[in-house]
Amino acid sequence: MLTKQRTTATELVTKWIDQQQEKGRTAGELHQTMFVYGDDVMQVEVDENNKLHITDRTPHQVVVFRKAEPEPGHICRCCSMEYDHEKDALHCCAYID
Ligand SMILES: [Zn+2]
Repeated sequence: MLTKQRTTATELVTKWIDQQQEKGRTAGELHQTMFVYGDDVMQVEVDENNKLHITDRTPHQVVVFRKAEPEPGHICRCCSMEYDHEKDALHCCAYID
């Protein structure tokens, strides 16, 4: 289980790096970026050959405190009616023209 999660975290970081580099960001810009996936902490570092490496920085324990943010409701873009589900908001005025 733990091994599988670690693989996924590495895959996610690798994908993210690829996307950033496609956007034109350099290895130096990505240097020391940290990633948290579940309890896994990973960090991207550049070596002397300007190559990126993903390092496992997972400590003994990770506790993340999140600030409570108000959940934005799903609002119909036409009439501003609020719904619990995005699907309902999308369908609200979808058939009215
Ligand atoms: Zn509507």
